[in-house]
Amino acid sequence: MLELEKYSFGVGDRFAKQAKAQLAALMKVADDGVCVVPVWNKSHREHTTIGSQPIDTRVAADTAVRELGWTQPYHVDADHINLETVDHYLETSDFFTIDVADAIGAPMDESLVQAFVDRHPELVGQIEIPGLSQPIATTSDSVAATARQYLAAVQRAGEIYRHIESAKDVDTFITEVSMDETDQPQTPPEMLVILAAIADEGVAVQTIAPKFTGRFNKGVDYVGEVAQFTREFSADLAVIAHSIGQYGLPSNLKLSVHSGSDKFSIYPAIRKCLQSSGAGVHLKTAGTTWLEELIGMAEAGGEGLDLAKEIYAQALAAIDQLCAPYASVINVDRSQLPKQIDAWSSQQYVDALRHDPTCPDFNPSFRQLLHVGYKIAAQMGDRYLAMLAECEETISKNVTANLYERHLVPLFVGDV
Ligand SMILES: [Zn+2]
Repeated sequence: MLELEKYSFGVGDRFAKQAKAQLAALMKVADDGVCVVPVWNKSHREHTTIGSQPIDTRVAADTAVRELGWTQPYHVDADHINLETVDHYLETSDFFTIDVADAIGAPMDESLVQAFVDRHPELVGQIEIPGLSQPIATTSDSVAATARQYLAAVQRAGEIYRHIESAKDVDTFITEVSMDETDQPQTPPEMLVILAAIADEGVAVQTIAPKFTGRFNKGVDYVGEVAQFTREFSADLAVIAHSIGQYGLPSNLKLSVHSGSDKFSIYPAIRKCLQSSGAGVHLKTAGTTWLEELIGMAEAGGEGLDLAKEIYAQALAAIDQLCAPYASVINVDRSQLPKQIDAWSSQQYVDALRHDPTCPDFNPSFRQLLHVGYKIAAQMGDRYLAMLAECEETISKNVTANLYERHLVPLFVGDV
């Protein structure tokens, strides 16, 4: 397999114009002495909404790397692919996020469930795992129940993995398995069963994205109990380290945190867990670079500000249609949305949109509506792209600072 580095950071770039500004943030963190490699991710859903092609992401990444002289590895992630969509990405991606959330709970042949339990007597009873304060306690019934819930999803991952393997040299790609886009979080004991099953399937998984407890809304902070998240995250790390030895999974297997951007309240916990365990992490941001484009336009003033306002007006008019595909991952309070913002200054727009929780004018509903409003900009086509070029200076400054100051530094730089 192609080996993924210890720390990796997923960056989204809806219109494929900010790769350089994003990479500049990774270069700054490299200057601080920490190697975090960029992974440009774009889902099929995103490509479809924008009308872009997988090759666009690859070209933007390659160009940024060449122009800035980045010498560390970098990757291009076919994000949330399945058997129907994976073929579009085989040539241009070297990282595949196999999304099997849909298959969780799918009916499973009972004989296969029993065969799994019989194959894994080590999963039944009191399982001592270094790093866990108490052993995981299971019965053959509880292991069977977990297997019944997740085996179909893991089998699906195996099917997609083998499909990729049949088309690409195994040394040329990285595999992630994601189960985050579902309602029920996966607990650490479930993670143990899932990893045993993934090993049975022969999937060389290097990152796994569970659904964690709490809400990971797009572009805003974590909503939930930070203490509980911390316990779960740290227990997952322990289960992963144990499973690597027990099941012969890739030694660099690590957690992947989806919709990980802007989760400021859990970054200190993640950082502490990584430091105390020595584990790596993959953190995917949630396409928020596009919001920095709007901020940069608003900051530029004049026509840039006008276009940013027009995008909000159109997004507000199309709110139902824009929010529907993201209903489970956003939380827009309509009463908090301004009816019209024609008279707003640059500063008012920037303050409402920029994710600075200490700013009294920060408006999370405004931000989340615009987050899902990228379709409006896509429909504007060249008009939007021309304004990106026009406001390049203020935009790139904001793209870099957002990733570096608000994300990479709290997650990776300095001791805690
Ligand atoms: Zn995801």
